[in-house]
Amino acid sequence: MNAIERLEKMWEHDRRYTTRYMLVVAGSLFIHAVLAVMFLLAERYAFMALNVGALVFYGVWAWQFTRRLVNEWMLVALYLDVVIHACIYNLALGQGPAFFLYPFIVIPVTFFFSIRDLKNRDAMLISVFLSILSILLTLATLVQAPSAPFEEAALTDQFFQVNLLVCALLLCVYTSEFMTETLNTQKSLSFHAENDPLTGLRNRYGFAKEVEKLHGTQYCVVMADIDDFKQVNDLYGHSVGDALLSKVGKTLLTSIRKEDAVCRWGGEEFLLVLRCDAETAQSTVERIRRKLTAIAVDTGTAAASVTMTFGLADCLEAESFDDLVRIADSNLLRGKRSGKNCLVVTGDSGQELSRPSESQLDTAFLDSPIFSAFSATSDTTYIYMCNLCNNVSRWSRTAVDYFGLPGEYMFDAGSIWMGFIHPEDREFYAKDLDAVLSGRKHFHDVTYRARNRDGEYVRLLCKGVVTEGDADTPALFAGTITNLGVDTPTDGKQR
Ligand code: GH3
Ligand code: MG
Ligand code: MG
Repeated sequence: MNAIERLEKMWEHDRRYTTRYMLVVAGSLFIHAVLAVMFLLAERYAFMALNVGALVFYGVWAWQFTRRLVNEWMLVALYLDVVIHACIYNLALGQGPAFFLYPFIVIPVTFFFSIRDLKNRDAMLISVFLSILSILLTLATLVQAPSAPFEEAALTDQFFQVNLLVCALLLCVYTSEFMTETLNTQKSLSFHAENDPLTGLRNRYGFAKEVEKLHGTQYCVVMADIDDFKQVNDLYGHSVGDALLSKVGKTLLTSIRKEDAVCRWGGEEFLLVLRCDAETAQSTVERIRRKLTAIAVDTGTAAASVTMTFGLADCLEAESFDDLVRIADSNLLRGKRSGKNCLVVTGDSGQELSRPSESQLDTAFLDSPIFSAFSATSDTTYIYMCNLCNNVSRWSRTAVDYFGLPGEYMFDAGSIWMGFIHPEDREFYAKDLDAVLSGRKHFHDVTYRARNRDGEYVRLLCKGVVTEGDADTPALFAGTITNLGVDTPTDGKQR
């Protein structure tokens, strides 16, 4: 596709461009109408006829235009019209009536049309060349003595005044249109340079403005990265990955206050600035982390979901914003190494995780051989036990292998497990669990779907009960999950 074809394609679709084009046609009609009347009054009928002809010509173009039948010849016609008319009047009437001014109006018009396609340097060069050529050509016709000048000086003056006025007016209109177009292009370029089209968030460069506003305020920097996102892309394809990225971006944006800020730092990494102390920031991030496990994208065969790992740096930890980003990044890295789907902060005493890593989990009460014995009794019934005092759970090895859970011992297994549950089932699962943990219901007894490590949904029957703790034993939540098999479509729907 050549430059002209590209321009033509844009003309077809761009309404703003259409308006500008109409403005040029309207300007040409206006000039020829004024000149036709003036030549009529001056009794120069041949010239009047010339302008009436031009009026018909532009009228036809305008009509064609309303039928969206414009093409690049419009601009050529404009050049020819201006140059031919100016030369004829110059040769006949001399420089007195100042017809040589008209080619100057063409300059902003041609620049306006060539700016539409910034990559097209040829269009710009052609515009410069044609503008200079038409001006030189028109001026050259003034070298010769006029063949039929106005006899009355007053008529020459009148034409001079009208031509000057019309040219100045149109020059102003077209120059301002050209400037508006340039500014719009500039605005659109800087918008695209500072914003991420996929998530609608600012990008790293656009975020620099937020950073400037931080000086002298209390804030925390949080680096967030989606866990195992490459696997999501590999498993479900890039379009699902993109949809998840977009949902993550929206969730982050809607989960923070208006004085906070978030940007897409790059790839599947997001940077948040929370204007609050570290403690408040931690609880905000924990809330966001849990919220993120509930988002999902339907892939047709399964619901793809994600978890995120967060690294937090308090503004008291470093002087510069860049250093804080580095600290948040290194905390994030430690979070990735310690099992992902967590928030990691730098503690007063150096490196401290906001939740225990697997090696630091207090599993004392869960390390019972009875648990090991029971968990080995069935391949399809898994057992779990959660110490409600430290939120550390132990799950059957068979469940870990079948679902691809992070490990036998897990901190905050509730949040991790939520990421495996079918999005449609999460709400009633969470409600039932909440009722049991808060003591409103005695038994957790619920059937729902969860994703196994092959990405298939299986139907599960989950039962559980809370036992009171005492001085020696912590409060426990324990039960069984029975695998009822891969979920098969019933009444035409995958359940
Ligand atoms: P980790 O938990 O360690 O962060 O693992 P990860 O797989 O998320 O990290 P890794 O850096 O190995 O891979 C990041 C992936 O993110 C690879 C890249 O294809 C994907 N990604 C980055 N930007 C986009 C995007 O705009 N759209 C999609 N669909 N994928 C993206
Ligand atoms: Mg990642
Ligand atoms: Mg990454």
